[in-house]
Amino acid sequence: RVAVRLRGVCKRFGSAGDQVLAVDHVDLDIHEGEFLTLLGPSGSGKTTTLRMIAGFELPTSGSILLDGRDVTNAPPFERDVNTVFQDYALFPHMTVAQNVGYGLMVRKVPKAERAARVREALRTVRLEGFEDRKPSQLSGGQRQRVALARALVNRPRVLLLDEPLGALDLKLREQMQVELKAIQREVGITFVFVTHDQGEALAMSDRIAVFNAGRIEQIGTPAEVYERPATPFVAGFVGTSNLLSGPVARQILGEDGMYSIRPEKIRLVAPDTEPGPGERSVLGTVREVVYLGSETRFVVTLDSVPEPTQLVVTRQNLHTTSRDLDAYRDTAVRLLW
Ligand code: ADP
Ligand code: MG
Repeated sequence: RVAVRLRGVCKRFGSAGDQVLAVDHVDLDIHEGEFLTLLGPSGSGKTTTLRMIAGFELPTSGSILLDGRDVTNAPPFERDVNTVFQDYALFPHMTVAQNVGYGLMVRKVPKAERAARVREALRTVRLEGFEDRKPSQLSGGQRQRVALARALVNRPRVLLLDEPLGALDLKLREQMQVELKAIQREVGITFVFVTHDQGEALAMSDRIAVFNAGRIEQIGTPAEVYERPATPFVAGFVGTSNLLSGPVARQILGEDGMYSIRPEKIRLVAPDTEPGPGERSVLGTVREVVYLGSETRFVVTLDSVPEPTQLVVTRQNLHTTSRDLDAYRDTAVRLLW
């Protein structure tokens, strides 16, 4: 079942002469219960797309369907969706329980039911016991959970999340990625999640829609987007990639076209090593060695091509000292993949 369907959606801002096409013919089907991520650099149209699903912006053209119902021009309150913003937008003078229950109070849900649902939402985000605190008495991660509880409390069909973890420091963000994914699995609500962080997108999503300049360049599972990037932009934006094209590709691969090779797929061996059957092989010289803890990155120039083409190769768990790493520099190597 399709929970959210976008068809040919465009959004143009500004008046004649000074116009931005923020969203450019986006087609997207988001399935019920799915964790779908809109991934792309700043300014690529992610927030605008989310705001059109919520009804805060109206498309210039195209249509939006929720559960098969055309809501293209419907106001936000006629859509069964909720939004979690990066800045949480909590009411500072209200307690946690009042913040979470606010929407239910506005809709005149009876007090007893309201209390039960607030309790349930706070349990879901693991904030039992914090009912009477004010937002100022909470950590950033806890405020984030309150915002999430407030969005879950009226059980929307679809939850929209715009960079909800962006304000958290790295450790907490990684912890919240795991928790948010667990919560989504538990409540079974369709999540449309916006991030510019490719690692976050790979870690959390059922599928990723990769945005570039208002367009979707690829939609796929994390493994599909990483292993088989559809465009050079996707190859470069999601993870690190070596791109070979033009004369370089012809010389090394004997073929025309554009190739993307992930740094961890390349083996780095002594120059006299024989390639295995079907293995691609090229000779080069190590120029840089960068120790990154869990991996070590080698920058290698290729001997066979005149242009300064460099390939990046990473090796895991290289137990070594910095003196050993220095010894790699300017050595001849064979690259196999
Ligand atoms: P993202 O969320 O991917 O960073 P946005 O959807 O916020 O991107 O913005 C996409 C483009 O639309 C950008 O060029 C941005 O400057 C422009 N834009 C967004 N909102 C408005 C607006 N209200 N008025 C004019 N331009 C806007
Ligand atoms: Mg944005």
